[in-house]
Amino acid sequence: MNTQLKEKIYVTKSFMPPKEEYFNYLNQIYQNGQLTNQGPLVKELEEKLSSYLRVKKNFHYVTNGTIALQIALKALGIKNGEIITTPFSYVATTSSILWEKYKPVFADIKPDNFTIDANKIEQVITPNTQAIMAVHVFGYACNIEKIQKTADKYNLKVIYDAAHAFGSNYKGQSLLNFGDISTCSFHATKLFHTIEGGACIVKDDEISKKLDLIKRFGHDGDTHFCLGINAKQSEFNAAMGLANFPYINEIIENRKTISELYDKELEGIIQRPEKQSELQYNYAYYPIVFKNEEELLKVFKALNKEDIYPRRYFYPSLNTLPYIKEKQSCPISENICSRIACLPLYPDLSEESIYKICKIIKNEISI
Ligand SMILES: *Cc1c(COP(=O)(O)O)cnc(C)c1O
Repeated sequence: MNTQLKEKIYVTKSFMPPKEEYFNYLNQIYQNGQLTNQGPLVKELEEKLSSYLRVKKNFHYVTNGTIALQIALKALGIKNGEIITTPFSYVATTSSILWEKYKPVFADIKPDNFTIDANKIEQVITPNTQAIMAVHVFGYACNIEKIQKTADKYNLKVIYDAAHAFGSNYKGQSLLNFGDISTCSFHATKLFHTIEGGACIVKDDEISKKLDLIKRFGHDGDTHFCLGINAKQSEFNAAMGLANFPYINEIIENRKTISELYDKELEGIIQRPEKQSELQYNYAYYPIVFKNEEELLKVFKALNKEDIYPRRYFYPSLNTLPYIKEKQSCPISENICSRIACLPLYPDLSEESIYKICKIIKNEISI
């Protein structure tokens, strides 16, 4: 019996670096005895990542992508009020806004690549609007130019939740280089991971200094400058990041190969997002859009029967979260959310599995 075919296939699988390479870094931790508080491995990873992403400075490695968003809001000193955001993302984008006691105001998305519709941002601006929090969802670029223009016109801060954008380049530079602050996530399910982890990339040097204080309780020695929190990352997480670092390009290449095979097998059968011509894509996800929810559920049922588990990314539309009292309508996002899913995508997903997944999808759709 072929046991490989019996293995459960999930939407993603964390990349594991060679054990000895990870253990080498752990040995270094044992030798120098520093476990956290901006230790040498955290510093080394910050340097390597900022050089890989070509951000020269102001790269802050933190404990996760959610706290990265929260301290970004704090460091920018955004006043109480409304933050315009996208309804199509992982819940952390909205929850970080709510957790910091701002009101999320949703602008609907573009049906072609599911990012916030920059033309709709202006329509929801009020005297209480303080900032825009947009997401380069699935690694596709937001309309950066238009968003910046709107922000400049109304004096708003721009935060990009770039949790999916690691390795995506737009007009020759990393997508993490835009906005007042861009944040990233290095969670185990992301393209590049440090088990848990995240980052803030900060444009302004003064804001960067403030964020650096905020992430370590707001003090330097016995002098307390501002209210802070603990967002410092440990040496053990940095060790995983350093062990994964040499494989980034290989991981992206592998994902590209798999995505292209999906493209070939599913061409003309299923709707796919459109990639901007100036985007060098990171292949972080493989989203597909079904005709309707019924078709999605039918395909899921058939795949699940074969122990294949795609995910409904993203569902539900964040404007419909039960703890948001005031109803806001985003018909495009609500419609896309009801019929979009991500297919399994990770470097050692076998060709055989990809053919099998596509065959099941084709079968179910044509019935
Ligand atoms: C994963 C993710 C986050 C949260 O990152 P964590 O590191 O898991 O806290 C935030 N926003 C988006 C869009 C994400 O996908």
